[in-house]
This record gives sequence, C-alpha cells and structure tokens, in this order.
Amino acid sequence: MIDTLTPSIDPTMETADVVVVGAGPAGLAAATALRQGGAGRVVVLEREGEAGGIPRHCGHYPFGMREFHRLLRGPDYAARLVRRAEAAGVEIRRRVTVTALHPGGRLSLATPDGRGAIIGRAVVLATGVRETSRAARLIGGEKPGGVLPTGALQGLVYLEGRAPFRRPAILGSELVAFSALLTCRHAGIKPVAMIEPGPRPVALAPAVLLARAMGVPFLAGTRLDQILGRDRVERLVLTDAAGRREIEADGVIVSGGFRPEATLLKESHLALDPGSGGPVIDVFGRLSDPVYFAAGNLLRPVETAGWCWAEGVRVAAAVAAALAGRLSQPAAGRRLVTESPAIRFALPQRLGPAAPGDGGARHLQVRLARPASGRLVLTDGDKVLASRRLRSRPERRILLRLPADLAGGSDLRLTLLED
Ligand SMILES: Cc1cc2nc3c(=O)[nH]c(=O)nc-3n(C[C@H](O)[C@H](O)[C@H](O)COP(=O)(O)OP(=O)(O)OC[C@H]3O[C@@H](n4cnc5c(N)ncnc54)[C@H](O)[C@@H]3O)c2cc1C
Repeated sequence: MIDTLTPSIDPTMETADVVVVGAGPAGLAAATALRQGGAGRVVVLEREGEAGGIPRHCGHYPFGMREFHRLLRGPDYAARLVRRAEAAGVEIRRRVTVTALHPGGRLSLATPDGRGAIIGRAVVLATGVRETSRAARLIGGEKPGGVLPTGALQGLVYLEGRAPFRRPAILGSELVAFSALLTCRHAGIKPVAMIEPGPRPVALAPAVLLARAMGVPFLAGTRLDQILGRDRVERLVLTDAAGRREIEADGVIVSGGFRPEATLLKESHLALDPGSGGPVIDVFGRLSDPVYFAAGNLLRPVETAGWCWAEGVRVAAAVAAALAGRLSQPAAGRRLVTESPAIRFALPQRLGPAAPGDGGARHLQVRLARPASGRLVLTDGDKVLASRRLRSRPERRILLRLPADLAGGSDLRLTLLED
C-alpha cells in the first residue's frame, strides 16, 4: 500500500510527525491529545508572540468548564492550555507564520530568522476566525473615530488596559457581541444599547439576560443607519418600526461579520466550502489532501472556546488513526448536497463510515441563512437517514445526529422542509 502520509522528503528539510498551525484552543487541544496518545514530534506554529489564541484577549469568564472543570478567565484558560501542551511535550514555536500550504504536508514559514519550511506526516490547521470591518463599512454617516470590532476592543482593554470610550452602542447580538458586553463590564464601560436589526437576539436567551442584568437596553428590530460626529462618535441615527431617532453615544462596537481565517487555504490546492468559508472536510476532519486536517473556528464562524477545544481533541484521534494507517486513503466520502436556500452550510461536507474511537464526527453541524422552522432531513435517495425538527435563527448551532452506517457512494441530500 502507498503511504500517502509520508511524502518523499528533502533530507535537509525539518520534519515532524504532526504540525499544528495555530495555538488557539483547537490547535493546542489537538497537539496535547496527540502527544498524550503517544505521537512522536508534535510542533505547533503560532504567528503571535504568545500562544493561546483569542481567549488571551478575553479577560472575562466563563472559560474552562469542559477542559478544566472550573470557571476561568480567558487569559488564565489560555495559559493553562499552553502549560498542559508543553507539559505533554508539544513544541510551541511563537512568531512563526505559516505562509503557504503545499501538497503532502509541506509548509512555507516566515520566522524571525527569515523564511523556513517544515513538513508534517500530518498537518492540523486551526487558524480560527477573523473579524471583517464589512459591517462598519455598510453604516452611513461621518466615520469618526471610536468604531471598533470586538477583537480590537478586547486588545485595548485586556492587553493595554485602555478604555477607548465610556458610552458606546454594541451592534449585533451573536455570541461575540456578548463577549463585547463582558469586556465593557470589565473596563467599567456602560453601553447605551445593544442594537439588533433582526426581530430577536441572535444569541441564546441567557446571553440576553446578561444585557438586562447590566441595564443595557436591547433594541431588536432596529437599524443603525448613521454614525455622526466630527473626530469622535457623538450620535447614532437609528430606525425601527416607530421611525427614525437619534441617540447619544461615544463609540460603536461592531460585532459579527466573522469569517474563517482561510487565507492560506484559498491560495492552496485544498478545497474550500463557499457556504462555511472554511475547508471541505470529511467525517474525520480531513481535507481534500488527506495529510491535512482542520479543527476549531477555521471550520466555520463562530463557536465557543470549549467547542473548538473538543473539536481539537476529536481531530487528534483521527490524526492518530491516520498515522497508524487506519483511515481509508485518500480521504473519501459521499458528497453532502444541501439544497434548501434556508441552509447556509452543513459540515462535514463529505460523509462516510467512521469506526468508534477514530475521531469521526457524530453530528452534522448546520447553520441557517435566515430564521426558519421545519424538519431537517438527511436522505439517501428515497431513504431518510436522519431527521429532526428545528426552529432556529442564523448563527445558532444546529446539530443533526449522523446514522452509524454511511457506507455507499452516491450523494446524500440535506433538506429543510419548512413549515
Ligand atoms: C472578538 C472575539 C471574541 C470572542 N469571545 C469569546 C468568548 O468570550 N467566549 C468564547 O467561548 N468564545 C469567544 N470567541 C470565540 C473564539 O473564537 C473561541 O473562543 C476560540 O478562541 C476558537 O479557538 P480556535 O483555536 O479555533 O481559534 P483561535 O483562538 O482564533 O486561534 C487561532 C490561532 O491561529 C493563529 N494563526 C492564524 N493564522 C496563522 C498562520 N498563518 N500561522 C500561524 N498561526 C496562525 C492565530 O494567531 C491564533 O492564535 C470570540 C471570538 C472573537 C473573534
């Protein structure tokens, strides 16, 4: 049998059993679990000067219940993940940016000492998400200072100890908008409102209770039309069912507009899913080149740290199975075709049988393009393989349990039969 996980190697090139790109919760979880499971050399490459990913910038609770069975602030959680990885023998290289992904697991690197390269028998991509300023650009008005995405706010508050405004509005109501709310509370910033264009909050009810507990009015069905002010934000023009009005604010935190950090993938030979913005994966988290695997928010925007960590642990089991020659070669699977316009994406996009213990996904992860309700159905021709009722909104996690037997060759279809 040809071992596709051991490509012909330039003898001068650095090698590792597993190379992980990104030292956030997903990458660190995968690396740690691999070493704890007996993998040889596991190297994590991180472009920042510190490992830990986004939680390093989230100085608030709650992180760590799933991983450490206790409530931690983001930076403490990140530090624990790093310590645990290093204690397990993971080599973490900071300030190393992966600049290109090549067939067979060869990576081009930019390091403080210049360009480099490394080749992994397996590579786990865990580069997370990035925020776009798209939402900010769509807002009309004078574009004064004081309009920030959540990540930038968290960098100022938690890493530099600065509060860039006192009375901002938060635009958006998904998971990360509530991370912004917690950041404001930490910095003594009192948001004047949370503004959500849709009729209901995007995040689940407990998150909305937080806004209420902090005395922040939640304005559903409200559009932010203009940001006014000369040098700094001074007023916001809002439109809701009652008409237009202005409120005073000295800043805007723009949440949402997240995309997987998939720049490397776009410039590579690997297949991308336009729906999720992340890679096409099979049930083992393997990409179209079976040396590559992916986990965490690179798969889709945006899940919690605990969820991404668990994905890292699961992909580690799949990588171990691949290194032991237990996974089929090349990455195979039945194509999942999603036909309903209300479905934004579903993953894994390739489905097939997975032996227990080899890290196979147990569920399809689905997100909607718009609020919808009905029956979600996975079919193989006329046969219904799985189904569930749902009533959900975009950005919310929807899971559909996968059947054990997914052997076969033809396409599978995912349909939302709307009420
Ligand atoms: C602004 C913001 C706030 C959030 N707040 C919360 C919160 O309060 N609670 C919560 O549970 N979740 C929160 N999230 C979700 C968050 O993304 C997850 O908590 C978690 O960090 C995802 O883990 P990850 O490992 O997939 O990615 P990340 O944590 O994003 O880690 C990815 C890592 O990859 C590195 N990287 C990227 N590209 C390269 C490259 N080319 N070469 C080398 N390294 C690279 C990055 O520097 C980063 O360290 C927030 C997300 C955002 C954007």
